Amino acid sequence: MANGATPERPRILVLGRPGSGKGTQCARIAARFGIPHISTGDLFRATVARDTPLGRVVRAYMDAGDLVPDDLVLDVVADRLGPDGAALGFVLDGFPRSIPQAEQLADLLDPFALDLALDLVVPADVARLRLTTRLVCGDCGRSVGGGAIGACGDCGGSVEARADDDASTVARRLAVYDRTTAPLSDWLDRRELLIRIDGIGRPAEVAARIDAACDVLLVSGSEDLAS
Ligand code: AMP
Repeated sequence: MANGATPERPRILVLGRPGSGKGTQCARIAARFGIPHISTGDLFRATVARDTPLGRVVRAYMDAGDLVPDDLVLDVVADRLGPDGAALGFVLDGFPRSIPQAEQLADLLDPFALDLALDLVVPADVARLRLTTRLVCGDCGRSVGGGAIGACGDCGGSVEARADDDASTVARRLAVYDRTTAPLSDWLDRRELLIRIDGIGRPAEVAARIDAACDVLLVSGSEDLAS
């Protein structure tokens, strides 16, 4: 963090393979710090649900397991962050997903200091199993692992497999991650912004590791993302 003081509203981004537990952990981080949880995947699912021409374009990319083009992504993120985005703090879930997107984020929030980037590390075979066996609440988005059936424990909504969690789309999403998103981890590491978190284990165990990292790193310093 730029000035060495604990930020009241930190600016955090979370990387990780599809299936690393980003959504679950980002919701917790947002609640802990009272900051907005901004998930580009959720924003795009809402766009798709509106079934507009834009929604149909976005859907084609998501259904294929491909990334939505950068210009569309940046529009959605800029709109969601709004002019006060940096001051309000945020936890970004699933954005940026490439080095060009990270550079666009730095431009968007210029002058910009990111407080912390977390990389939730899980091996590809663990991620694949999680994705192809999980169910997700259609109403609140809560993820339920292990093929559980019934209603969502949070909101009572109905749970179902996500359209892009079938085996072939998952394979594509994991390959896209390795090729396009994984290099971002080293890019952030070189800027001394990154901490890698072991993403294996129960959500509460992973959350404890994240809390410990936040406690240490949000008081010990980071650099300007754009530098
Ligand atoms: P997620 O819910 O994060 O797994 O995202 C679901 C899908 O939304 C991805 O497979 C992409 O098609 C799309 N998506 C989400 N975030 C991004 C992003 N930052 N850049 C491009 N596409 C994205």
